[in-house]
Amino acid sequence: MMSELWSHLVSWFAAHGVLPVLQFLHLEGLAGDPRDISASLLIATFQLCVIGLIFRPLESLVPAEKWEDRKLTKVDFQYTLMMLVGIFPIFSFLVLTPVANYFGGPDTGPSDASASPLAITHWVPWLKLHPWLLFGCYYLVYDFVYYWMHRLQHALPWWWALHSMHHSTRQMSCWTNDRGSLIDGFLQSMILAVVGIVMGVEPEQFAWLVLVGELVQNFSHANVRIDFGPVLDRVFVAPKFHRLHHMLVDPTRPNLHNCNFGQVFSIWDVLFGTSLYGEPLRPTGVGDPMVDDDNNQNLIGLHWNAFKRFWGAVRRPAGWKFGEVAFGPNYEPIPVDQLDLHALGHHVMQPAHHPQDESAGTNPPAVVAAETASTA
Ligand SMILES: [Zn+2]
Ligand SMILES: [Zn+2]
Repeated sequence: MMSELWSHLVSWFAAHGVLPVLQFLHLEGLAGDPRDISASLLIATFQLCVIGLIFRPLESLVPAEKWEDRKLTKVDFQYTLMMLVGIFPIFSFLVLTPVANYFGGPDTGPSDASASPLAITHWVPWLKLHPWLLFGCYYLVYDFVYYWMHRLQHALPWWWALHSMHHSTRQMSCWTNDRGSLIDGFLQSMILAVVGIVMGVEPEQFAWLVLVGELVQNFSHANVRIDFGPVLDRVFVAPKFHRLHHMLVDPTRPNLHNCNFGQVFSIWDVLFGTSLYGEPLRPTGVGDPMVDDDNNQNLIGLHWNAFKRFWGAVRRPAGWKFGEVAFGPNYEPIPVDQLDLHALGHHVMQPAHHPQDESAGTNPPAVVAAETASTA
């Protein structure tokens, strides 16, 4: 059936597409399995097709924000390509297979995966008979951990130094999901992989878990004015819901943007009191000019900026104190309650790319203002 077809496709592409390239580069002797590269390239192609053929057209049909151009989305698009076609396949080849082999070898059968004393099937064995229900249970746990990890990404200054790169874009689109510091990505995938191992998820199932999560997130970042209605909105994360998570700080309501941390399920936000509904859409981005400078950077500059913030925070005690921060000229984290948010957000608060501003015609001043602000 489906999984057999998939496995044939992966083998075929590994033998006829991946292996010849590895041999040409004299890399076939490395520890990894060419099937890993093959699988992640096929998944990447599928994911790119879904984004490019469904989510991207939706952005033209029902945009949340009307843009005169898509200049700032370009770097996110390049980033997505680099991650899906480059980093993920290489990572799975060089790290995942060796790690999986270390943890029990490739012949670890399905019975071994539930050997973890915390495995769900260890406690509720009959779930093995209902794979879809089991998948749903895995997802709930996975998403719950994600929610709390995401809250930490905002609350711990050194982690925000990295995660803020995901938030800095002023044009949030279907390509924004993969925009994020590589160090942050590494931390996240390690934490989530440990959750998978502890729950006793099969490696192949784990890959599907991740893919579903990624596709939902590609959709929830898309520039579309779509929600799921009053009931389903309280279960699943819709694009409007996640767009509010990315809103620019509002100096008159300084806590409003601390909302909607969920990845796939919004139930965690409802349960823990961080959900925000019914608020009109606002421009996305960050008020902190040191972080907003990301919008002037290319792929490498983005990472360099994030790394400077990270280094400025992680070696100072202030980088480990819970709370929201902005970054000073030497990249030291400064608690925002010590700052004048009106002055801080002022330069980027005029949304140059927002529909209401269209009447202004030629208006690049927001960018210029932000630039002069950070040099001042
Ligand atoms: Zn966030
Ligand atoms: Zn996001």
